[in-house]
Amino acid sequence: MTGYDRDILGEEAAPPVLRPWPLPNRDTRPFWEAQNRHELAFQRCSQCGHVRYPVGPTCPECLSFDFEWAASSGRGTVYSYTVVHHQTHPAFPAPYTVVLAELEEGPRIIARLRPDGRPSGRGPQGMRPEIGAKVRVEWEDGPQQALPVFVMES
Ligand SMILES: [Zn+2]
Repeated sequence: MTGYDRDILGEEAAPPVLRPWPLPNRDTRPFWEAQNRHELAFQRCSQCGHVRYPVGPTCPECLSFDFEWAASSGRGTVYSYTVVHHQTHPAFPAPYTVVLAELEEGPRIIARLRPDGRPSGRGPQGMRPEIGAKVRVEWEDGPQQALPVFVMES
């Protein structure tokens, strides 16, 4: 009998399921620390102005090592999405929707789509947003790291 089975049968509370968390390194630590302040940070190239994402040591446009951190508005549009029906980790019960959004600053980022009023990962979900629909970033605080989720912009 698994912990899940015991919970369903009401015999014993299941232990909390821990989700995987990012492991910051020297290059990515400022990015993750900004997220804990509920800021979506990008690297902006000091030489050509290109907005870099994901975090990396050099600009993919001009190969410069110089950059500054810049905060995103967190607003964008749905570029693509997928509805996950097959649960691959106990901390992420399916179904849920993962959105690839193009942000106003240019980069595309991936995050779960949270239906308003519900924490992500708690069904019923599986929303199918329209391509081009407006979304914005909100935050879910975890014990180690705040992570972005998308919500539909009304
Ligand atoms: Zn550059």
